[in-house]
Amino acid sequence: MTDICSLTLTELAGALQKKEISAVQATQACLERIAATEPKIRALLCTDANGALDRARALDKLGPDASLPLFGVPMTVKDALCTKDFPTTAGSRILEGFRPVFDAFAVERLRAAGAVILGKSNLDEFAMGSTTENSAFQTTRNPWNTDKVPGGSSGGSAASVAAGQCFASLGSDTGGSIRQPASLCGCVGLKPTYGSVSRYGLIAYGSSLDQIGPLARTVEDCARVFSVIAGHDRRDATSDPRPVEDVLSSLGCGSLKGARLGMPKEFFGQGAAAEVRDACESALRAASRLGAELVEVSLPHTRAAVATYYIIAMAEASSNLARFDGVRYGRRAENIHDLWELYVRSRSEGFGAEVKRRIMLGAYVLSAGYYDAYYRKAAQVRSLIRDEYLAALEHCDVICAPVSPETAWNIGTHSDDPLRMYLMDAYTLSLNLAGLPGLSLPVGLGAQSGMPVGMQIIGRAFGEVGLLALGHALEHALPSIGAPQL
Ligand code: GLN
Repeated sequence: MTDICSLTLTELAGALQKKEISAVQATQACLERIAATEPKIRALLCTDANGALDRARALDKLGPDASLPLFGVPMTVKDALCTKDFPTTAGSRILEGFRPVFDAFAVERLRAAGAVILGKSNLDEFAMGSTTENSAFQTTRNPWNTDKVPGGSSGGSAASVAAGQCFASLGSDTGGSIRQPASLCGCVGLKPTYGSVSRYGLIAYGSSLDQIGPLARTVEDCARVFSVIAGHDRRDATSDPRPVEDVLSSLGCGSLKGARLGMPKEFFGQGAAAEVRDACESALRAASRLGAELVEVSLPHTRAAVATYYIIAMAEASSNLARFDGVRYGRRAENIHDLWELYVRSRSEGFGAEVKRRIMLGAYVLSAGYYDAYYRKAAQVRSLIRDEYLAALEHCDVICAPVSPETAWNIGTHSDDPLRMYLMDAYTLSLNLAGLPGLSLPVGLGAQSGMPVGMQIIGRAFGEVGLLALGHALEHALPSIGAPQL
């Protein structure tokens, strides 16, 4: 029998529908893979083998059903999404012991579509970071080379997909947290348009930037999960009411012939490592041989993206994280004498250093004397960045750019230098500021490092149909990078 864990989600879903593989077999295969790889990778914060097998048995009893597109498909979910049968920590000690009484909208949708949830994946505390080193519990390792980071903040999700522990994972992307770990771990990640997937039940980091999306092995696999989780939800006021377009049936219609691929010169300059630039450029040359037109575009405010993003994200984080006060959720300090001490000690003991830094900086940029100089200014620059994207997208169908300036770096390299770490996000943040969708696709292995290189394809708001179709065509035009040897 073929190794179940090496199938794509699409192949597995087909085999499950035809009863060639049972939900129990698929689940068992993933659980075995988890047992074999977790000691090295540490992608998951918790698993529930018995619960997953019970669910798989119940599904098998019911039998496959074409109306359940993820029937029997084992998945993991980033621990920033609320789940009622798993603890939910957001990677923070302050939420240790928190068990939500409800499922996030996207999780509800997965279950309703027949998915089997194996466990919760590791992340940087409250999704603040680019490596998972900020998790309060463990550092996840890159399955391609366990000395290297898997990226972040959805590093556990990317590593669990790359290690073959599951067929897809849900992540969240505030400034790159789906695309960047997907890129560093050699999988595909989709950050949908802001508003297309409900944020209900996602522990908020930067509410005007956060978006839930899938990580998986192929574009088609991501499209399958996206089509399940997208759609209006009245419990999220920013959820878009328009009907979701059918991303799956148009997937095969994408063609590179005549497609106008924008190359922003600011993303292909000195900032990126030569091996990253080379891999992206060679993918674009392959596309052009198949008839795509490469169009140079310019996004000059990209240079302001890091500063703008970090002001806005920290401001929103300081406000969102005010709710963790030791009273309602998770952990509470012991031996306290009054309410003030309860707040101060619970927060001091519960939050890690990076989260505290962001709460303080966020409160600072929102404070009376500095609001105009920082927050208001950042909000204005954000509009410029968005307008610039919209103008560039007048000249091309999608914009293509590297995801990360470097391939995965060694664990510990930037962990003592927060500013350096923030700069590593330079290519992903502006998309969230503009609210646009982005797909991260593996385009090769770095000539020096041998580690995966990802390219992002950026589309128009709610243009996921075209974006995924083009990504699918590009994926098929490029040689596969294969899977890590574990
Ligand atoms: N690395 C970025 C940050 O730390 C983005 C994180 C994210 O997208 N959640 O804010």
